Amino acid sequence: MDNNLPDNSNNNNNNNNNSNNSNNNNNGNKGRNNRSIMVILVISILLTFLFWRVFDRVSSGREEEVTYGQFIEMLDKGEVGSVKIYGSKIVFENNADDKVISKTKYTATRISDDSLAEKLRQAKTKYGTEYEGVDESGSAMIGTIISYIVMIVAFYLLLSMIMKRSGGVGRANAKIYVEKKTGVTFADVAGEEEAKESLTEMVDFLHNPKKYLDIGAKLPKGALLVGPPGTGKTLLAKAVAGEANVPFFSMSGSSFVEMYVGVGASRVRDLFKQATQMAPCIIFIDEIDAIGRSRDSRHGGDSEREQTLNQLLAEMDGFDTSKGIVILAATNCPEVLDKALLRPGRFDRRVIVEKPDLKGRIDTLKVHSKNVKMDETVDLHELALATSGAVGADLANIINEGALAAVRDGRSLVSQQDLIGAVEVVFAGKEKKDRLLSKEEKQIVAYHEVGHALLAALQKHTEPIQRITIVPRTMGSLGYVWQVPEEEKYLESKKELEAELVTLLGGRAAEELKFDSVTTGASNDIEKATKTARAMITMYGMSDKFGMVQLESIEGQYLDRNLALQCSDETATKIDKEIRDMLRDSYNKAKKLLSAHMAALDSIASFLIEHETITGKEFMSILAQVEPQR
Ligand code: ADP
Repeated sequence: MDNNLPDNSNNNNNNNNNSNNSNNNNNGNKGRNNRSIMVILVISILLTFLFWRVFDRVSSGREEEVTYGQFIEMLDKGEVGSVKIYGSKIVFENNADDKVISKTKYTATRISDDSLAEKLRQAKTKYGTEYEGVDESGSAMIGTIISYIVMIVAFYLLLSMIMKRSGGVGRANAKIYVEKKTGVTFADVAGEEEAKESLTEMVDFLHNPKKYLDIGAKLPKGALLVGPPGTGKTLLAKAVAGEANVPFFSMSGSSFVEMYVGVGASRVRDLFKQATQMAPCIIFIDEIDAIGRSRDSRHGGDSEREQTLNQLLAEMDGFDTSKGIVILAATNCPEVLDKALLRPGRFDRRVIVEKPDLKGRIDTLKVHSKNVKMDETVDLHELALATSGAVGADLANIINEGALAAVRDGRSLVSQQDLIGAVEVVFAGKEKKDRLLSKEEKQIVAYHEVGHALLAALQKHTEPIQRITIVPRTMGSLGYVWQVPEEEKYLESKKELEAELVTLLGGRAAEELKFDSVTTGASNDIEKATKTARAMITMYGMSDKFGMVQLESIEGQYLDRNLALQCSDETATKIDKEIRDMLRDSYNKAKKLLSAHMAALDSIASFLIEHETITGKEFMSILAQVEPQR
């Protein structure tokens, strides 16, 4: 049960990214075709060889095996027509008279018998039996050696092809995507003015490298785009290529790194080789932290990644900027990057791509709704206010979800209601129609949510309510209060944060006051309240006990903002106690405020139970009816 929409900005919508897959590198296809031909060739060699051996056996006729004793007996009786004596076997034919007895081939294992020569001589004299010795050492040996060589070569080829298929050792089969023309320009990237400004120089350089070279200026080799996921880093890189009208090579950092040592490095070589052939161009490496992680042991290291990184550094140092290659890389955790990558001459420029502010969000919504048919109720300003903290990818998703909702409803224009619904879908998930709450649960959830909302309304320093709902959502919430600020704010005062704590704990307070029991529903509120209280003490210097001392630092600024304690264990224990005290005071305040307004709590909750969703206006009008004196 949230009192705010959850921030799922990490779930960025990469639907547009897929478009670049369509322009798969031709070389990749050619390589795959060649490999298929090779596999077919090797299998045919093996089959031919096997077939030849079998055919050889079959064509050499039916051979009947007899014992050496039987052979001597037949020889003595004059039943043997011709004999071939090999080193280890004897092959002979019977003395056939073609009409009555058919010719049969026999083999017998040869044993050491000194009298054999004498017996053969006698048989020749008596019955005309032909005999000869065969020296098999030469031809048979060559045959065996050839068959071994064929087998070994065939197996080697087959094995190396299988390894390559599975991305194993050998030449890189990197997934490099090339777009000859991205078709994206800076106009498609909303907001991010500072980022665009620093990238404009790159565009100019790609247009006219001579201007820079003539004056003796060293050209920038690369820039690092830094920012949270979904803020448009890939889009910006494409826009640079689009503006400069040059091809766009892109590869994800994670696709360089494989299990086998050396593959990543060869992929880096491959990428630069192909890019050099098509220069001027942009090389874009997404998630560069996957290879560019610092080589010190703190963040873990492995030889494959190190080799890949070394190769990347070597390539960056090696290429000639006058050819017009610019490397852009994106990351959301720049702090883990190896210092060598950030040295002058490599990714020495850092372009920050921030989450959009109110204006940025309005612009992004405008860009994405350009081709969407909307009716007159649509107010993008209101929508932007309601989506504080959203990134470009979320906003693109919201517009699309809104359009889908209109289609589902059979309407030809998108309304503001569709878009507001889409915000809820994107942040809280779809309504879970099949999850039916029992009557008691519904009551508890309703009181919990109205507890939050009422406290928000009763305290001056919290944001007005947009909507309260107790329809369960797919992302796990059973209900929530959606608050929207009246204007974008960049600072929060201590009073506002204190009011926020009271509001957060108001859900549990309402449950306890009404039902005299507590449920698991407040876990998310408790988590948020604890985080806020901790930050007030350790980072914002808002606790009188500790004063203005930094007790925690932020790690992973653009991702999950992990906090690392910067104080002694003793202080940490004191901080924990201070957090407990703050939360207890806030909880008591919440209970006190609510118990003074129980009539309003009851009326709004029963309205909510009946209607499941109420708007901010409905909420305020019930409150005004119950408490006209306010
Ligand atoms: P990142 O690379 O930072 O994770 P992307 O560039 O892949 O983010 O953004 C994903 C999608 O979000 C884009 O294709 C685009 O539709 C949308 N988007 C993100 N930021 C913006 C922006 N500033 N303007 C317009 N669209 C944006």
